[in-house]
Amino acid sequence: MTATHVADWTNWAGNVRAEPRRVHQPETIDELRRMVAEAARRGERVRVAGSGHSFSPICATDGTLLDLSAIAGLERVDPDTGAAVVLAGTKLHALGEPLLAAGRALANQGDIDRQAIAGALSTGTHGTGRAFGSFAAQAVAIEFVTPQGDLVSIDANDPARFRAARLSLGLLGVVARVTIGTVPAYRLREQSEALSFDECLERYPAIEASRRNAEFWWLPALDRCVIKQFDETADAPNRPDVPEHPPGTLERYLKPDAVDWSFRIYPSLRTVPFVELEYTLPFAEGPAAIREVRRLMKTEHPDCTWAVEYRTQPGEDAYLSPTQGEESVTISVHQAIDQPWEPFFRDAEGVFAAHGGRAHWGKLQYRGRDGIAAAYGDSLARFEAVRAEMDPDGVFGNDYLREVGLGR
Ligand SMILES: Cc1cc2nc3c(=O)[nH]c(=O)nc-3n(C[C@H](O)[C@H](O)[C@H](O)COP(=O)(O)OP(=O)(O)OC[C@H]3O[C@@H](n4cnc5c(N)ncnc54)[C@H](O)[C@@H]3O)c2cc1C
Repeated sequence: MTATHVADWTNWAGNVRAEPRRVHQPETIDELRRMVAEAARRGERVRVAGSGHSFSPICATDGTLLDLSAIAGLERVDPDTGAAVVLAGTKLHALGEPLLAAGRALANQGDIDRQAIAGALSTGTHGTGRAFGSFAAQAVAIEFVTPQGDLVSIDANDPARFRAARLSLGLLGVVARVTIGTVPAYRLREQSEALSFDECLERYPAIEASRRNAEFWWLPALDRCVIKQFDETADAPNRPDVPEHPPGTLERYLKPDAVDWSFRIYPSLRTVPFVELEYTLPFAEGPAAIREVRRLMKTEHPDCTWAVEYRTQPGEDAYLSPTQGEESVTISVHQAIDQPWEPFFRDAEGVFAAHGGRAHWGKLQYRGRDGIAAAYGDSLARFEAVRAEMDPDGVFGNDYLREVGLGR
C-alpha cells in the first residue's frame, strides 16, 4: 500500500526540518514513475530522502518527498563482471549478506552502513584508501526516473551524462536502481594503535601506503591520535563485542583487534546525534591543514572536543566530486547536536578552503554559491548542462541547492 501523508520531516542529526506537502512511499518502480510524473504535472518539486543521514538541507522540500524504503533489495549479480544491480532504497547494511551469498562484497565502505545506496551514491559518500573510490566512483550504471515518469539508464557509454549521474545530489531525477561494481568477498583484520599527534603525522604516510585502508582520528581532549588499519586476511572471524564508547574517549576509536567479513568490519555504531563538516583537500595539503585545525581547537575553540577524522581518497571523475580528479585527503570535524558548532565549523572551513578544499555535499558548509563556483570551475557548468537537459523545469531542485548555485 502507498503511504500518502503530510508530515514534518527531520534528518538523522535533527538539525534539518522540512514540511513537505506530501510524503509518498511507493512500493514498486511503476508506482514511483506514476508519482513522479503526477507531481511534475502538478508543478510540484520532488525530492527523495534516503536514510536522512545528510547534515546539509539536501533532502528538504515543500513539495513531494519520496521514501523509497520499500523499493529495496539486491536484484542480481552479473556472473561475468560481478556488478550488482541494487534497488535504490536498499540500506547498505542489508547488502552485505546477500552479496556474500553470491561470493561478492563492496570494495570499500564508510564509517556507518545505515545509508540507502542511492543516498550514499548521490552525495559521494566514501570510506578511506587511495585504491578505492567512493560509492559514486564504484557505480557502473544508474537508472533514473525522469520528470515524465520514464526510466533512463546512464552508463560510461555516455561519458558526459555519466560524470554528472555518478554524483547528482538528486538533481537529475529519482534514482530507481544502481549497478555497482563489487569484488570477491574478503575478510578484514582491523587493528588500531594510539600515538601522539606528531608521531601520527610522521608515521601515517607509510602506514597508509602499505595497508589496504587506513585512517586516523585526533582526539582533542587527550591530544592523542588513533590510527585504524584494515588488511585482507584468510583468518577465521574473531570479533569481540565492543560497546559504543562516548565521543572524544580513546576507547571509542582504540578497539581490540578483530577479523570478520568486510561489511561487518567497516561500520561503527554511531547513536549520539552530532553534526559534521568535512572537506576534501589535495593529498599534500592534509598535514598542514590538520595542524592548523588542531591549533584552532586548542586556542579559539577549546569547547569543541569531538574527534577529527583524517582519511584518503583517489581522484574521481564525477563533475561534482570534491576530489576534482586529484588524490585527496578528507578531514572531518564534528560537534554534539546540543552544543554550538557554527563558529568553529566556519573557522575550520576557512582553513580547509585556504588549502584548496571542497566540502562534502552531505555535510555542512557555509561557502555558498561563490565559494562553490570558485572551487568547481568548469565542472559545475558541465554538471548544470546535463541537469538542464534532464530536468529543464527544475522538478528535482530544492532551495538549498539553488542557493549554492545548482539546479532551479
Ligand atoms: C553517523 C554518520 C556517519 C557518516 N559517515 C560517513 C562516511 O563515513 N563517509 C561519508 O562520505 N559520509 C558519511 N556520512 C554522510 C552520509 O553518508 C551522506 O550524507 C549520505 O548521503 C547519507 O545517505 P542517506 O541514504 O541518508 O541519504 P540522504 O541524506 O537521505 O540523501 C542524500 C542525498 O541523496 C538524494 N537521494 C537519496 N535517495 C535518492 C534517490 N533514490 N534518487 C535521487 N536522489 C536520492 C537526496 O535527495 C539527497 O540529495 C555520515 C553521516 C552520518 C549521520
